Amino acid sequence: MTVGQCLMDYEKVFADAIAAIQAEGRYRVFADISRHRGEFPRATRFDAGDNARAITVWCSNDYLGMGQHPTVLDAMHKALDETGAGAGGTRNIAGNHHYHVLLERELADLHGKESALLFTSGYISNEATLSTLAKVLPNCIVFSDALNHASMIQGIRNSGAERHIFRHNDLEHLEELLKAADPSRPKLIAFESVYSMDGDIAPIEAICDLADKYDAMTYLDEVHAVGMYGPRGGGVSERDKVAHRLTVIEGTLGKAFGVMGGYIAASKTLVDVVRSMASGFIFTTSLSPVLAAGALASIRHLKVSQIERDGQQARAAELKRRFRAAGLPVMESVSHIVPLFVGDPVLCKEVSDTLLNEYGVYVQPINYPTVPRGTERLRFTPGPMHDDSMMDALVAALVDIWARLGLKKKAS
Ligand SMILES: *Cc1c(COP(=O)(O)O)cnc(C)c1O
Repeated sequence: MTVGQCLMDYEKVFADAIAAIQAEGRYRVFADISRHRGEFPRATRFDAGDNARAITVWCSNDYLGMGQHPTVLDAMHKALDETGAGAGGTRNIAGNHHYHVLLERELADLHGKESALLFTSGYISNEATLSTLAKVLPNCIVFSDALNHASMIQGIRNSGAERHIFRHNDLEHLEELLKAADPSRPKLIAFESVYSMDGDIAPIEAICDLADKYDAMTYLDEVHAVGMYGPRGGGVSERDKVAHRLTVIEGTLGKAFGVMGGYIAASKTLVDVVRSMASGFIFTTSLSPVLAAGALASIRHLKVSQIERDGQQARAAELKRRFRAAGLPVMESVSHIVPLFVGDPVLCKEVSDTLLNEYGVYVQPINYPTVPRGTERLRFTPGPMHDDSMMDALVAALVDIWARLGLKKKAS
């Protein structure tokens, strides 16, 4: 017997929510792909009928191809044979494996910090750390860059702390907000180094200067820079020699390091607080030791190998040059990210679908809410393995499609 009456048709509410997303042209369809070890960025794509077709992946965050690197794979095979598949518990209850300990030491060293702490993803590391820090500091105010990643926003929200959003990379606006705040209250500035949708880079040193001036802590998300910038892959903060000035450096093991997981590096005490209090760290099974072993091998490799970083920078510069030469509207970017402006969600998806279905080129459309409405784009992530013939095919396909759809060729 039902007690009380809710007249809502639950399924219809869900269907309406989806219909609204579809009407806006931003309904997400995941490409069904299978990567080929040793042939990155070649892959196979399966359509709805399970028919296979060869494609080239142009939007992977496995930026350096480390997810296929023999050193990483060997380490993972070895760890699998040694320890088995999963961790078997939380860090506190039977899930603290020696590979986790070694990996945290390696990460602390990478960023020149006393300690590091592993999470199951970069998303969780941001959410868990920011929500904990801003909660533990009594009456904390968080200053957050307007383009911060969803995981940082979520962490700041969950802390319940007062939050002020400064215009993207705008030092004057940040200072205005810092100046207006009560000097006696604790402050935390949260920002990223490489912003992954525009490819621009934060003025880290100047933000650290402001943090010193107003006695604020700093929290830097280096997810799109670790492995790729700095002489040892320590990120833009290493490249700019300012890592020691940041309170917390956060990163992922899932992008340039090619595996999976996230982390923070900071002082021993700060890490101890997060380890002891963050729900998203405490109540979850730790990373598989196989993943930890792979990440460890990847980090160690990239600490001493410059070939991958140089190759990526060279290929990104080459792709930007080719897009410009073909009159394609490549957006300004000082990093390895190469965004191509479309400015409409329906067209953006159409370009992407046509590339995949007719040309075997895979680049996902980037639509709202990942980027603001009206700035929809294709986001290319060329790496050391994207060769000239792949670029020839890509540019030719784009030029065709741009003409067919009558898209604008103005550069940003
Ligand atoms: C991808 C991303 C994350 C999350 O990292 P995952 O390891 O993929 O969970 C965090 N911050 C930024 C800026 C990102 O782009």
